[in-house]
Amino acid sequence: MRKIIHIDMDCFYAAIEERENPELRGKPVGVGGGSRRGVLTTANYEARKYGCRSAMPVFKARELCPHLILVPVRFDLYRAESARIRAIFGRFTEKIEPLSLDEAYLDVSHLHSSGAAIAREIRAQIREETGLTASAGIGPNKLIAKIASDWNKPDGQHEVRAEDVEDFMSALPVGRLWGIGPKMRGKLEAMGIRTCGELRAMDKIDLARRFGTWGLELHALARGEDDREVSIDRIRKSVSCEHTFTENILTLEALRPQLLAMIDEVREDVERRHADRVIRSLVVKMKFADFTRTTAERAHPELDAGVYAELLEEAWKRGANRPVRLLGAGVRFRDPDDGIQPELFDSAGL
Ligand SMILES: [Mg+2]
Repeated sequence: MRKIIHIDMDCFYAAIEERENPELRGKPVGVGGGSRRGVLTTANYEARKYGCRSAMPVFKARELCPHLILVPVRFDLYRAESARIRAIFGRFTEKIEPLSLDEAYLDVSHLHSSGAAIAREIRAQIREETGLTASAGIGPNKLIAKIASDWNKPDGQHEVRAEDVEDFMSALPVGRLWGIGPKMRGKLEAMGIRTCGELRAMDKIDLARRFGTWGLELHALARGEDDREVSIDRIRKSVSCEHTFTENILTLEALRPQLLAMIDEVREDVERRHADRVIRSLVVKMKFADFTRTTAERAHPELDAGVYAELLEEAWKRGANRPVRLLGAGVRFRDPDDGIQPELFDSAGL
């Protein structure tokens, strides 16, 4: 029987800013704006009362809460804090899977104490050493642990024992399962399915017929079954966007606007979901009509259309005028654990 803990820091960035500047306490605070093209990265609980949310445009947040205090993001600080918390996890287990700076799965199956006792101890150490609060979910797998960490948030925890999984899942809205977005939720709703309990009652074969392998996965998820390991290197290494053209592209000039559109898409993805990551390099990938391929890459810390244009040219030249059937653009991230020593990469000029 596995014991998995999902730790989720409470309003991590905002909580750090409040700790650094106690005058912010009890006031609505949003972290973001500025270089993040005017989007909130985090809102504290006070701001959430007004409806402010992460990923919300700043102008919208200000409409909802005119006295919102906006502070700029300081990812170096958040990364350092995240490393301290990671070190606390390391006292309990080596099996740590970070999902972002403020969230991680821990596999503590090897420890004798109950999962709940371990989670309580981890949260106490985090609070004592960083002054920040964390919430935890404890369960027999990652799916259950992740859902449970939301149960008593903030500064709380919830354990679901294996024998209670069925009850726990029954009333859970299907939208809480991963992979179920608004579209899928709509499809299920049309079938009269809103909760995991209702989904569980569906015939496995029928789900497979309607949704293919995803249907089989749904069948398992609805039962709270999830056998994925806590994996220490699951963290995303890159983000990219690529496009195969219906007709091969014959000139460098015709590739340029395609590239610009891709950079926009990559930028959006990075800002929305990976704003906490440090970009290591920019990449342009090309596949030619004869199916040969090439990749041009340069170390650069931010999405820069000029650098991309040069990489495009470099890749194009390697093709020696061969028509292009696929173009891709992306970024490679620095390993989050490298971020513990920011001065190291500052001086390397990367
Ligand atoms: Mg969090």
